[in-house]
Amino acid sequence: MTVLKEPPSPQEFYISYPLYQGFTFAKEQSQAGWDIAYSREPIDTYCPECNAHSIFRQYISGTISHNPEAWVGDGRFVVVLKCSRNAGHELFFLFKVEGRTMQKIGQHPSLANLNTYDVRQYAAVLGKDDFKELNKAIGLAAHGVGVGSFVYLRRIFENLVDAAYQTAKSDDGWDEEAYRKGRMAERIQLLAGHLPDFLVENHLMYKILSQGLHELTENECLAAFPVVKMGIEMVLDEKIAAAAKQQKLEQARKAIHSLISKASAGK
Ligand SMILES: [Zn+2]
Repeated sequence: MTVLKEPPSPQEFYISYPLYQGFTFAKEQSQAGWDIAYSREPIDTYCPECNAHSIFRQYISGTISHNPEAWVGDGRFVVVLKCSRNAGHELFFLFKVEGRTMQKIGQHPSLANLNTYDVRQYAAVLGKDDFKELNKAIGLAAHGVGVGSFVYLRRIFENLVDAAYQTAKSDDGWDEEAYRKGRMAERIQLLAGHLPDFLVENHLMYKILSQGLHELTENECLAAFPVVKMGIEMVLDEKIAAAAKQQKLEQARKAIHSLISKASAGK
């Protein structure tokens, strides 16, 4: 028995799928193909014109066939999504169909533009160069460039691990030699307490970072991309939370201080 590959949802195909990456819908998946072409399900994504997340719906003029195979054959179709806040805000996607295979062959705004919104919050805690490279990595991955995007992501990840190492090395009982000799997966484990628990518990997922680029294929890099990106985001999420906590502490300290000085002035 062959297991069918899960077809992409309209949202995944429009927003996350790189250009030119095809998907072949099996006969029993015809409806999923129809959904890409005709579904009016709400799509929750970033609207560059609102500069915020919004709900989009496909705009279709004229009648549509409800036959789930209506899209099968050779041809092209356009998907226009309209922002629910303002119908003038549109996202365009051009699809090509050959038999039962669909691929996205064009879009506006670009994938990178739609996908970098969620990382903007990290600008404050990531250095300027690393932030630029994170955006570049996402843009390249969005266009199916595996090794190239991976190089940027790997460097950012290594910088974050190195920053954790700079604090960890002054800990009591720090094993400098094990760290120096260790590969990325072992280093992450040694940095327990200085990196998010999730990363430490799943350190083996980061084995791929120790492999030479020449050993990795485009597809291996693309497959590892979300895992490494998630790791980066988790480290940054903790930095943002720590900065917010620090700010609150300082505010509290100031408030208490002014309360005490008022109280003693009133005596
Ligand atoms: Zn909008």
